[in-house]
Amino acid sequence: MSNCAIVGINWGDEGKGRMVDLIAKEYDIVCRYQGGNNAGHTVVNEYGKFALHLIPSGIFLPGVVNVLGNGVVIDLESLWGEIESLQKAGISITPENFKISDRATIVFPYHRALDGLEEARLKDKKYGSTLRGIAPVYSDKYQKKTVMMGELLYPEYLEQHLGTILEWKNLTIQNVYGAEAYKLEDLMEWCRMYGEKLKPFLCDTSKFLYEAEKAGKNIMFEAQLGALRDIDFGIFPYTSSSSSIAGYACIGAGIPGSHVDRTVGIVKAYSTCVGEGPFTAEWFGEEAEKLRAAGGEYGASTGRPRRVGPIDIVATRYGCRIQGATEVALTKLDILSYMDEVPVCTQYELDGQVTDDFPFPAVIGRAKPVIKTMPGWKCDISGVRKYEDLPAEAKNYIEFIEKNIGCRISYVSVGASRDEIIYR
Ligand code: GDP
Repeated sequence: MSNCAIVGINWGDEGKGRMVDLIAKEYDIVCRYQGGNNAGHTVVNEYGKFALHLIPSGIFLPGVVNVLGNGVVIDLESLWGEIESLQKAGISITPENFKISDRATIVFPYHRALDGLEEARLKDKKYGSTLRGIAPVYSDKYQKKTVMMGELLYPEYLEQHLGTILEWKNLTIQNVYGAEAYKLEDLMEWCRMYGEKLKPFLCDTSKFLYEAEKAGKNIMFEAQLGALRDIDFGIFPYTSSSSSIAGYACIGAGIPGSHVDRTVGIVKAYSTCVGEGPFTAEWFGEEAEKLRAAGGEYGASTGRPRRVGPIDIVATRYGCRIQGATEVALTKLDILSYMDEVPVCTQYELDGQVTDDFPFPAVIGRAKPVIKTMPGWKCDISGVRKYEDLPAEAKNYIEFIEKNIGCRISYVSVGASRDEIIYR
């Protein structure tokens, strides 16, 4: 038995979906343990190109069981839409290969609405929310005012519980934001409509995973977002509202006594960031436009253009430490092939001092990048499958990153497809 976590090292969108799709075939179970439909993992395979928002990326692999753990927040409507569109593309999704924790939390339409109302109130101070209701639902959860997925199986209990919550929630919706109150009967109908479809997938996934582990099965934990968006260790308050680090995997999956043996940190060969918050090595203008276009850097969930810049060693080394990465997969190296010189942010300059340390959130906005340029390789590397066949400049770039982040790079991805990978 061995457990593995696949996690983002930076601001998210590092190519986790692609790496999970690749590595998951070595595992029996793929489990999402945090977050909701606020990020998208892109997987390209023989069925086509998919942006997965909630369903684990192991869904394409026959024999792999996919689990949404108790740490996940689920918008019923969005999850059902995702299941339907995958089924239409010929992917089999059954209670045998897809299981939802009865303790996962439901994201209601009023959570989504509150996200939008609060961002509108904040105007130019907004957080850059994906407007999927994630911050409102996680804050309600810690106020103990949310509904668990399993309550869909007990409509009388649900109606009474949701009614009590709604009484409280409508006070905020009406009196703080001046919006229209939500009606219990409408929400109960929403629960009935989507709950009927999702009920067959509900179970005690904690027990399922515990028994699977005892039977010697291997579990892969699939994270969403990256270390710098983690609620505790990220660029607070421009973080997500969940724990996106490997350390939370066993809790969010429901097997707290377990541990993660292997943590693969995903790092993109350059930096991207969606939404607001400090992003020290950011590029603007033409050079940003060129990199964005080369890498197709538009959000998988929202379509928003991503902010781009050179790889950031300071942030990446910090991300590897916070994630406890035991190895790194470097993705999208092929995208840098157009550059004559490849820039690297090696350190930060903060208030006149050069530092290797990732700064405290309150001051990180003042940091300036220290940039070193390295020779580019200027040729197509997408066909390369062996490390020794890479141009010397590309190997030099990889080895420079490896040395400076202090973590072994064991995979180099040179394309979006399953086989466009170099094992080191
Ligand atoms: P995730 O949320 O971390 O899975 O990241 P995204 O969904 O944003 O995935 C990154 C994007 O890059 C997707 O469109 C992938 O198909 C694509 N991708 C991943 N790895 C590579 C790579 O090595 N080269 C290229 N060209 N594309 C890649």
